[in-house]
Amino acid sequence: MSLKNIPPVDEILAQKPVAKLIDKYNRDFILKLVRKAVDQQRQEIRASAKSLERAQILKEIVGKLGRLAEENSRGTLTRVINGTGVVLHTNLGRAPLGDRALRYMQEMAGTYNNLEMDLTRGERGSRYAHVEALLQELTGAEAALVVNNNAAAVLLGLSTLAASREVIVSRGQLVEIGGAFRIPEVMKLSGARLVEVGTTNKTYIADFRNAITDETALLFAAHTSNYKIIGFTEEVGLEELAELGSETRLPVMQDLGSGILFSPGNWGLEEEPTVQDCVKAGIDVVTFSGDKLLGGPQAGIIVGRKDLIDAMKKNQLTRALRVDKLTIAALEGTLIEFLAGDPEKNIPIVAMLARTPEQLEKQAKDLHSRIINKIGTHKKVETIELIALEDMVGGGAYPTHKIPGYGVEIKFKGISLEEAARKLRQTDPAVVTRRQEDRLTISVRTLLDGDSETIADLLAEVLAGK
Ligand SMILES: *Cc1c(COP(=O)(O)O)cnc(C)c1O
Repeated sequence: MSLKNIPPVDEILAQKPVAKLIDKYNRDFILKLVRKAVDQQRQEIRASAKSLERAQILKEIVGKLGRLAEENSRGTLTRVINGTGVVLHTNLGRAPLGDRALRYMQEMAGTYNNLEMDLTRGERGSRYAHVEALLQELTGAEAALVVNNNAAAVLLGLSTLAASREVIVSRGQLVEIGGAFRIPEVMKLSGARLVEVGTTNKTYIADFRNAITDETALLFAAHTSNYKIIGFTEEVGLEELAELGSETRLPVMQDLGSGILFSPGNWGLEEEPTVQDCVKAGIDVVTFSGDKLLGGPQAGIIVGRKDLIDAMKKNQLTRALRVDKLTIAALEGTLIEFLAGDPEKNIPIVAMLARTPEQLEKQAKDLHSRIINKIGTHKKVETIELIALEDMVGGGAYPTHKIPGYGVEIKFKGISLEEAARKLRQTDPAVVTRRQEDRLTISVRTLLDGDSETIADLLAEVLAGK
């Protein structure tokens, strides 16, 4: 046993490379890691039969320290290459931001700014003013407000407009999104009482009308973002609901979910009402996410009638749900891209959806040849093929709609598909892929600039067993 050859902590700390680590990090951090490295070394010595010299042990511990310092000072958020073809992948952080949003956010993050100061008058201003005018212009709404996410927007809307009163909702729209957001639960939390009308597959405007009482405060509609009832169905239209609202003087609120500013019809997706359509139809309050099809930061955007939005601004909940300067900067950058820029080019998720089959095929050919170049003749690879596949919008949008895409499919031998996929998830950056039977597939739609080359390198690394 060479346990007694392990040098004392002080001696380790006095080593030159360790002093350098203390300079780079801090002393307490390195001291903790020295103890950890010594423990590891002790276990290794116990587990192995060979005995080590003191100098050798010292060298091993110092070597371990560098790696430990590196590992323990890294954040746990890791860059992921999205090879799934799911554009709005909630587990992968939904929408990557465009350049304009990124630049603006970075600049505002590291400086002071006029978040809540009216610089003309030198008085306190509103943080919401920064995006309000843009949202008015883009959606045609009278007023706007932004909170933490769409779940918060719905909660705030219900709490402000209907607390301890009744809200009428179609049974076909009592949705659950992403496991954590359920309309009935949010309703309960807001203090509003849910009145369900119609049936799962059919609800008529008469069902709403018949349910209105003195207790009714709000008519509510939710976008059934992540599922679709098909067959014998009937839902109440936007105009009908808006009409009933104005006739009965009840506000109408719609949770639009994804929220689009221009119709995705020209990307081969089904037509959907845009935010502007809802406003034009007379819906009083529309809520939607900032990081779904808008392609911006996580946020809950509320647009609509000024008196109702003003009431929401005064609700104490708004303070708890408020967004910070980073969100506001990223959202402003994103909205300006829609207003004055080229979203199909500069907002990543819009660009991904707008890509033509020809462009995707070309991109897949490029990925295919890069992978062939790197691992085409590897003994653990059976086939590498260019394939057509189906992508998804994701994020609870367009649940049933598959969009034609392209990618590369790899069949391994001598390494299981599970192992290859797991190892790829553990590279830096990580690569998340899809599987099709016994093949690993990578869709190119969701790749960002430079990802193809990185994937080829990482595949080679994984196969080399590093
Ligand atoms: C996604 C979604 C939500 C939740 O939005 P977050 O921004 O994730 O909080 C709520 N309602 C609908 C209809 C949705 O699609």
